[in-house]
Amino acid sequence: MSLHDIQTAIAKAEADAGRAAGSVNLIAVSKVQPDARVSAVLTEGHRCFGENKVQEAAGKWPAFRDTFGPVDLHLIGPLQTNKARQAVGLFDAIHSVDRPKLAKTLARLAQEEGRCPELFVQVNTGEEEQKAGIMPSDADAFIAECLAMDLPVKGLMCIPPVNEEPSLHFALLAKIAARNGLSGLSMGMSSDFTRAIALGATHVRVGSAIFGERVVG
Ligand SMILES: *Cc1c(COP(=O)(O)O)cnc(C)c1O
Repeated sequence: MSLHDIQTAIAKAEADAGRAAGSVNLIAVSKVQPDARVSAVLTEGHRCFGENKVQEAAGKWPAFRDTFGPVDLHLIGPLQTNKARQAVGLFDAIHSVDRPKLAKTLARLAQEEGRCPELFVQVNTGEEEQKAGIMPSDADAFIAECLAMDLPVKGLMCIPPVNEEPSLHFALLAKIAARNGLSGLSMGMSSDFTRAIALGATHVRVGSAIFGERVVG
């Protein structure tokens, strides 16, 4: 597939779901991809990208921004508190707010820096031990805690378990967001973004379907 194919599929999924055209943001997930592939997508005019590691993003995005101008950059992977300051400086949105210690650090940095990226609270909808995210039963209290600290929480994010029907997880995330008055839903990846859009996704995170398979090594 290509960037254009994905944009077309998103537009169709929006229309099928009776949602407004342009209501879904496409985050092109460029982690581990060769610079040439990322440049090609920038050259096509796309300006919203996702990375899962602060270090990797810091190594490549300042140069891309010098060349191509402003780029909306989203952190979609886990954030260690000792990298939070760097992340606040680099990213426009952080999708992995998942614990009180990180929320407190971000609140302090927001005070010091006078700005804060848009935040998404990551929910571990599958309650998987190895996966990041706040447990669904703790989500309401944690969201309230973040909002009480004046953090700009825009919505929720989830990564469904690999072997389960993702729609169940998307529906659960949408329900938790709705009861907490949050409008943002970061859900859906290459294999399931159309299903996520049907269930209300506002941000889909699509990597391999745009850039090709990631070469890990
Ligand atoms: C890598 C990654 C994606 C993109 O995955 P694809 O299957 O390549 O679309 C989306 N979300 C997160 C959190 C990721 O780490």
